[in-house]
Amino acid sequence: MSQEPNTQSDLDVLIVGGGPTGMMAACELLRRGIRVRIVDRAPEPTAFPKALLLWPRSLDLLEDLGALDAVHRAALRINAFAYFSDRKPLATFEFTEDLAPLCLPQSETERVLRDRLRELGGKVERGVRLLCFDGLDFSGRISATDGVTAVLEHTDGRIERLRAPFVIGADGAGSAVRAQIGTDFRGSTYETAFALVDARIDGELPPDQALYYQSPKGALVVVALPDGVYRFFSSLPPGQQVSVPMMQAVVDERGPRGVRIADPVWQSVFRVHARHAGEFQLGRVFLAGDAAHVHSPAGGQGLNTGLQDAHNLAWKLAAVIRAEAPEELLLSYGPERSAVAQKVVRDTDIQTRAWLVNSPAKVRARDAAFTLADRSGLSRLYGPVMAGRRLAYPAQRPSQLPGGLPACRVRGQLPGGLRPGAVLPRPLALHHGLVGPDADPLSWTILLTPGPGDQEWTTQAEHLAARRPQVRVERAAHGLALRHTGCGRAGYYLVRPDGHIAAHGHSGDLERLESELVTALGPMPAYTLDSPSGEAR
Ligand SMILES: Cc1cc2nc3c(=O)[nH]c(=O)nc-3n(C[C@H](O)[C@H](O)[C@H](O)COP(=O)(O)OP(=O)(O)OC[C@H]3O[C@@H](n4cnc5c(N)ncnc54)[C@H](O)[C@@H]3O)c2cc1C
Repeated sequence: MSQEPNTQSDLDVLIVGGGPTGMMAACELLRRGIRVRIVDRAPEPTAFPKALLLWPRSLDLLEDLGALDAVHRAALRINAFAYFSDRKPLATFEFTEDLAPLCLPQSETERVLRDRLRELGGKVERGVRLLCFDGLDFSGRISATDGVTAVLEHTDGRIERLRAPFVIGADGAGSAVRAQIGTDFRGSTYETAFALVDARIDGELPPDQALYYQSPKGALVVVALPDGVYRFFSSLPPGQQVSVPMMQAVVDERGPRGVRIADPVWQSVFRVHARHAGEFQLGRVFLAGDAAHVHSPAGGQGLNTGLQDAHNLAWKLAAVIRAEAPEELLLSYGPERSAVAQKVVRDTDIQTRAWLVNSPAKVRARDAAFTLADRSGLSRLYGPVMAGRRLAYPAQRPSQLPGGLPACRVRGQLPGGLRPGAVLPRPLALHHGLVGPDADPLSWTILLTPGPGDQEWTTQAEHLAARRPQVRVERAAHGLALRHTGCGRAGYYLVRPDGHIAAHGHSGDLERLESELVTALGPMPAYTLDSPSGEAR
């Protein structure tokens, strides 16, 4: 075996793990012209339905990727979550059409991503396992080296030493990449094991709902899948193995009456964890998906969070590799995504513990909380959170915000208020071609919201973009922008290639906009606000 690594001149990113996160990262990189290898130790793709729910923000990403039609053809819409306590209805949270998740078994989601990957010219190399990194630089500085040497084992026993400029560890909960970069995986594992049976049934169940049966003896979740299959998911009674009779006994004890589990499709038992990596990045190595965070399936967020990690990371890597952004851009990946992951771990932990309470006082408190949320309409606040519509990365610099204390800054702090870091409302972004299957995935946008007759400052804003080929300028119609953003003042939204608002300001804030462009894309070639003719300062 040669000790010299194979420095592939045609490789930009090695992705370890060909699950949903790895394939999403590969697709997002390929469609930005980045050269990718994606390897997976498993000889075949998973045939298991595992994760079921795709929430609207993930559907946006799949739409931008050109894969949404394929998802719609195979998926089922879930219209409500219904909660029960000791079989008594507690609360029903109905989803409006724009917030409803789709149910698609993970094996199908992976098929859709695999097909799209193939169309983009990529392919998961199967039977290739990452063993370790050789001589990994632990300084954490990207510029300390020109790449990472990965030691890969092929199924025929061949060992390959591969030098890659960047590595994404999307290799699942037991991540070898995470172990290699030496970060911890903090959190806990629930004492209770969980059992899962996917099956056709005799009897009646709503075909478009998730039903949560809570009881002091444990929880049972029943979710409709496509093709008349239902998932039965429960805490596993101590000392028992998963089986149809075991799950039938759980259904008879605490679940919907008159339902017989007839024809099982898949059954499994597993432990649930609530953990996240201490660091999501070490220099040129990144963690994404289950490699970076694992949590309870309550609320079906696991796979969605992984897809969103991949999406967040890929455009940044692409911009840096294409020399269109400074490498510091990559330092935002960890803080942005670990904050999201920690929140998901925390929220799903609360839900899971609520399922599992068994003392009478705690049961009463939980049931009262559900009833109150249902009657007061509080639950309506949570729908957008689950849908991924409240996703917002905290602002890091004052220049991301408008100067002074305008009303939109105050509104941005309220639930549902739009603020920098949030996703530009999808209808507005689609209207201006910022997102969608035909949008340029590399492009930044300055979306101007001018008032009538505004000329001077909008011209200045256009000059700021003039020498940056990756920035385009769009003018939003006043009424449309106001309707979707809530801010009626003349100003701008600087929108990243992933659709998140990098900065918002008003007509007097153009120095802030200039500063944000420099932070995101590097120093401006020659033009400044003082010299609109384009002379060097
Ligand atoms: C039984 C079960 C039920 C679940 N139900 C739900 C649910 O209802 N909702 C939900 O949101 N989530 C659920 N999940 C979690 C969901 O499946 C994961 O969040 C999702 O698979 C994460 O995707 P990923 O791509 O990050 O990791 P994975 O899907 O784990 O993919 C990682 C890939 O990396 C490969 N790999 C591992 N090590 C190496 C190595 N050293 N070298 C090369 N390749 C490697 C693996 O073969 C695998 O293909 C469930 C999980 C299980 C096990």
